[in-house]
Amino acid sequence: MATRPIRLFNTLSRTIEPLETVTPGVVTLYTCGPTVYNYAHIGNLRTFLFQDLLKRTLRASGFEVRHCMNITDVEDKIIRDSQGELPLEADNTARHAAMKALTERYTQAFFEDLEAVAIPQNSFTFLPRATQYLPQMIQLIERLEKNGLAYAREGSVYYRVAGLPHYGCLAHLDREGMKLGASVDADEYDRESISDFVLWKAHKPGEPYWESPWGPGRPGWHIECSAMGMELLGERVDIHSGGVDLIFPHHENEIAQSEGATGHTWVTHWVHGEFLLVEGEKMSKSLGNFYTLRDLRTMGHDPITFRYAIQSNHYRKLYNFSVEGLKAAKNSLERLRTFRRRMEGEGESAGQGPWKEAIDPLARIETAREAFWNALADDLNTPEALAALFTLVTDLNAQDDRIALTRAERDAALAFLDETNAIFAGWPHEEASLDADVEALIEARRAAKAAKNWAQSDQIRDQLKAMGILLEDRKDGTTAWKRA
Ligand SMILES: [Zn+2]
Repeated sequence: MATRPIRLFNTLSRTIEPLETVTPGVVTLYTCGPTVYNYAHIGNLRTFLFQDLLKRTLRASGFEVRHCMNITDVEDKIIRDSQGELPLEADNTARHAAMKALTERYTQAFFEDLEAVAIPQNSFTFLPRATQYLPQMIQLIERLEKNGLAYAREGSVYYRVAGLPHYGCLAHLDREGMKLGASVDADEYDRESISDFVLWKAHKPGEPYWESPWGPGRPGWHIECSAMGMELLGERVDIHSGGVDLIFPHHENEIAQSEGATGHTWVTHWVHGEFLLVEGEKMSKSLGNFYTLRDLRTMGHDPITFRYAIQSNHYRKLYNFSVEGLKAAKNSLERLRTFRRRMEGEGESAGQGPWKEAIDPLARIETAREAFWNALADDLNTPEALAALFTLVTDLNAQDDRIALTRAERDAALAFLDETNAIFAGWPHEEASLDADVEALIEARRAAKAAKNWAQSDQIRDQLKAMGILLEDRKDGTTAWKRA
């Protein structure tokens, strides 16, 4: 299959460039995955959704996409949250087991969230866990040592930033005036230069460790991605992606590690997604505007509506998340679903034709198709792609009001809806009913009351209240409910 040319903004050059791949027709794509010590928040999900959009667009454009997303399952915060309960004398096996118990739980939750927003696990080619790639990380550090770009100090190993002339190329750092403070690692070890970053962290009491040529320790976060990406996708990768917050230092350091080892360019195209704000403010726990997907579900929002709200905005623009925005997304989806049902049905001529402004529906669909794919091929311009789709819906609805569309025209419209749904995954999906969840909780509360477990029955009532469900206990022992 011939591939459609795609143009994408490249953070390296700060311009939109044609995508050129090492192997024609194949795209290798590396995306930084979650650090699994907590539920993903909606800002994280925005990044994963934009990468899903990229992948679906590439696949629909005829490319084979080899997508690798890592799971960071060893990292400072994971260690902090998993080791607290263990006594200081706990051995390494127990420490690893505690870390694994935490990361397995949140990895599972992460994939559940991805599934809910129509990012299936089987859409990834590789989903490596960092803890399974220790030999590759150690080998990569050894290569850097051999190239004079890494040095050991008291059991830790650092990257010698001064040894790589193009360090700063991605973040466009001015080496002379480089804000060195920005890259300071929390670890207070003895480095040659304050801008040098850690590749291997010496073991500290109370932490899990692996054996290495430098003694016991664990990998730094940056080396994990370089090692997994090079192992699974190769020493030349077409696209590397993440949120804009990863440009510096994480991606800059990945370039330093991979290119310092191989001596040539690692990634051709760096593609970054913008942040998400909540009601105009940066999302934070202290502001009380911090949401996970689970929170949105509890509030009664369909994850697919959230997906659409995100995808309908351009990935390089700040997205201001709001409940109003979700409502607008829900209305847009409803409009497309209604149109889809209308096209599935048989048209009835209103008998008002011939209409002087009658259009050729098949030609009109072709125009929309071209506009839709051209917009996506132009740096994933989803607002424009959707505008093409909605203009078509308006035109065909208007035509169908006057001169019933033929079966062939309806089928052509349905085929185009399926084509666009392969990207947006919003139709023919029907909004998930939350009623079954509510009924199950009411039943659990009834059982708790029957067992005189008042604490539990109160807790379930509070949970339902948080979901906006009002209960009315009736004399006959049944409970009626309604949404607030
Ligand atoms: Zn990474």
